[in-house]
Amino acid sequence: MIADCLFCQIASEEIPADIVARNDDAIAFRDLNPQAPTHVLIISISHIDSAADLGTVDGAIAGLFELAASVAEAENLDGGWRLVTNVGPDAGQTVHHLHFHLLGGRQMGWPPG
Ligand code: AMP
Ligand code: ZN
Repeated sequence: MIADCLFCQIASEEIPADIVARNDDAIAFRDLNPQAPTHVLIISISHIDSAADLGTVDGAIAGLFELAASVAEAENLDGGWRLVTNVGPDAGQTVHHLHFHLLGGRQMGWPPG
């Protein structure tokens, strides 16, 4: 836990969020600024800066993908869904705690902007 990290504070429930699901490794909550009918953030409970650091950790990532799939099912995203993570400024990462955007409920464009 990093004291001044927003997503660590959400994970420890010091800051409220609209949490939809959790497991031992990850927490899912609705994005404040949704970009699709379903826009849920799947974050690691432990602090990892970004996907660029995932090669140095083990464990948590399988639970994170498991939670993403179960939220997609609960949200009835039968037509498909997108899971995307931003790394660094060119990709638009604004919160430096590993999170995946689970997006669904509309047709997605490709490539992403
Ligand atoms: P990124 O730009 O990939 O780092 O994504 C950060 C995301 O966090 C953005 O989509 C924001 O809308 C979202 N966000 C920031 N603060 C909160 C919050 N307190 N609760 C929920 N979502 C948030
Ligand atoms: Zn953190």
